[in-house]
Amino acid sequence: MTEEQLREVLEFYQDLGIKQIYRRGGPRAPATVPAAVGAASSPASGLVVLPLAPAHDTLEKIVQDIGDCKRCRLHERRNKIVFGTGNEQAKLVCVGEGPGADEDEQGMPFVGRAGQLLTQMIEGTAKKEGIPLIRKDVYICNVVKCRPPENRTPFPDEMEICGQFLFRQLEAIRPTAICALGSTAAKALLGTKDGVMRLRGKWHKWRDIPVLVTYHPSYLLRPYNQNAKREAWEDLKKVLHFVYD
Ligand code: URA
Repeated sequence: MTEEQLREVLEFYQDLGIKQIYRRGGPRAPATVPAAVGAASSPASGLVVLPLAPAHDTLEKIVQDIGDCKRCRLHERRNKIVFGTGNEQAKLVCVGEGPGADEDEQGMPFVGRAGQLLTQMIEGTAKKEGIPLIRKDVYICNVVKCRPPENRTPFPDEMEICGQFLFRQLEAIRPTAICALGSTAAKALLGTKDGVMRLRGKWHKWRDIPVLVTYHPSYLLRPYNQNAKREAWEDLKKVLHFVYD
């Protein structure tokens, strides 16, 4: 494993919230890694590590690896796993929190009221700015792929478990930019506790990919958030010009 590969692996674990690893001093233990992921080890250090993602990872392979997922409690009440939709080579990926009732029923992200607003925001802003773009040109997915009961915020362990698939989706697509919709997406991608008000409108990074944080469309549906709506439109304008100019 090269230094660069090792750095990527360590960043992967850091993204998952693992802050410390240790090096085995004694005889090397056998690597027990899931077959789907494959093993990689450094002969020099004796350190057994998992690769960032399988080589030549694809969205299809990620779907296969998710399978009939029962890795966390969210599977218990789900109807459908909501993986993601849109252009698999999109230059822009929008990341939400997790499926709601409509998404759980249809197996597609952002198809309910918040989704209709997101479509309007993407297509309306693009049209106004003279950018030929419709929703299906963008890739849309969520941090967690199963609906949290009563639409509660996903718990940290659920985000961590499902986050590995989100990260693989992002690595497989490698968009020019990511738009994080709301605080759960921002937290998952940036590992920060800062709220959207503080993060929005500015550029951040997930690994080496620029991330712009904005409000979640559900928040914008509340009638008293007129200012936030205006700001969200500004944010979207910013990300669309960055990606498509
Ligand atoms: N809210 C989300 O965060 N994602 C969806 O897919 C729908 C609503």
